[in-house]
Amino acid sequence: MTETSPSKAEKGPSGLRDPHHPNGHAGTGFQTAQRFSGRGSQGAVGAGGQRGALKNQSSRVAAGAKAAKGDSNDGHSHLSPLDTDAGAAPDPLTIGRRLRHIRRAAGLTLDQVAAAASISASALSLIENGKREAKLSLLSTLADALGSSLSDLLTVAAPSRRAALEIELEKAQRSAAFQALDIPAVRPGPRLQTEALESLVGLHRAIARIQAERAATPEQARRANAELRDRMRRQGNYFGDIETVAADLLTATKYDGGPITRTVVDRLAAHLGFRLAHTTDLPESTRTVTDLAHRIVYLPQPDAGQHDSRSLALQALGHVVLGHKVPEDYSEFLEQRVEINYFAASLLIPERGALALLKRAKAAKDIAIEDLRDAYAVSYETAAHRFTNLATRHLDLPVHFMRISSSGVIYKAYENDGVHFPMDATGAIEGQRVCRYWTARVVFDRPDLSSAYQQYTDTKSGTYWCTAVVDRTPAGVFSVSVGVPYADVKWMRGRETSERSKSRCPDPACCSQPPAELAGRWEGSAWPSARVHSHLLAAMPPGVFPGVDQTDVLTFLERHSTG
Ligand SMILES: [Zn+2]
Repeated sequence: MTETSPSKAEKGPSGLRDPHHPNGHAGTGFQTAQRFSGRGSQGAVGAGGQRGALKNQSSRVAAGAKAAKGDSNDGHSHLSPLDTDAGAAPDPLTIGRRLRHIRRAAGLTLDQVAAAASISASALSLIENGKREAKLSLLSTLADALGSSLSDLLTVAAPSRRAALEIELEKAQRSAAFQALDIPAVRPGPRLQTEALESLVGLHRAIARIQAERAATPEQARRANAELRDRMRRQGNYFGDIETVAADLLTATKYDGGPITRTVVDRLAAHLGFRLAHTTDLPESTRTVTDLAHRIVYLPQPDAGQHDSRSLALQALGHVVLGHKVPEDYSEFLEQRVEINYFAASLLIPERGALALLKRAKAAKDIAIEDLRDAYAVSYETAAHRFTNLATRHLDLPVHFMRISSSGVIYKAYENDGVHFPMDATGAIEGQRVCRYWTARVVFDRPDLSSAYQQYTDTKSGTYWCTAVVDRTPAGVFSVSVGVPYADVKWMRGRETSERSKSRCPDPACCSQPPAELAGRWEGSAWPSARVHSHLLAAMPPGVFPGVDQTDVLTFLERHSTG
């Protein structure tokens, strides 16, 4: 018997769906929600990782949520079938059930119809159960044998309401998500009472909806991020208790000024009872791994990546020193990320020494991020970010800070000086594109990328002076910038610049729309293919530690602790 094919349907005019993936989104997400309580993206906030992709994920998730909710136009009290979108092709299960319905209505047996179509009864049974897809030619033959028509068989709607519910239950139970639960399936046969069927289908839908809400983590992540930024703004990006902890640690380890060298970091670790070990086989999804049992912090080889391993080591120790527990949810994860970053920065650029330097500079009206960078042998970004910790609290300076990609997309940003970052409806700014005329973007066009570039920019919220440098990393080219309102520029080195710019953003005519003349010339003739980032294709990385492969981590620790 060759007329049926278990895997592939002949694509008719309307096409046939893959029976195993009636709704790909609901499948994977469900499983995720089971195992993890819905946590967010890799990369953190503020001083954390890379979250530029988040914006684009929310619409996809919203679509998924809608799909999982099914027919939201259902005005009736009873359940309506999930798959009722007009114009869509029916799936093999619906076709099979329709086939059976027509056969029974015609009073024919499996054997009779199978014989008429020259196939075995068992093959017909498989088709009726949606377990095998029939080619169009076979469906046509079967329709003839039943005195029906092909178009009748291919009707999207289930033959009856009862059949629609049976199909929906069957599909739900076949999903990978359901099978991962290890709950026995119910056979949606004639003996199952309609009441029970309604209830089961309702439960499956409710679970799918909860799963979709959990999967909406990108949205939650963005909100959590926005809330955290508000909090940081309120406290001028200053965390007094962490400063105290850091200062105490430095005193305890007899630090006496200057850059925090590797030796000092080793001493700090030893003081806390930890050993730092560099290794080349860290799991790819991690930056560091801490063995709490043997008190070892595993770090990448210092030259392996862009990260300063001093900073990584201090961040790892930060979790211990600050008494972090396994995060309950994504916003706690973000908070911890911010805290360990702050902790590391407050050790790499100790408050007391940095403050002395900055106060002298302010008195001389000569504040420069580069000086802080050079005095503590840190990156410009670390120095710039640290400057925002101390500027408002101790120097009475409102500031803003930004790290953006060369295409203008915000990776990190902070402000308490009223500058208007581009923002979406959830209040999130990561992933948004800043104005083409801002210092942070203009700097990319400078012929000399080796030194800081300063510029005054008129914006809708006032005039700002900013200084920016270009940062080349293995992950791409970024700019790091720090700015102050015009009124405070008198304290900053580089204020004599004659560079001026004007930004009318968020007015789309400023820079987000192409010039009318150019757009007109290319009207209808430009078709770019967008570069798709892998993180857009993936669901939000799941897990208590988002995106971390726990098996990799545990096998790593096994390998190292038994060696
Ligand atoms: Zn603009």
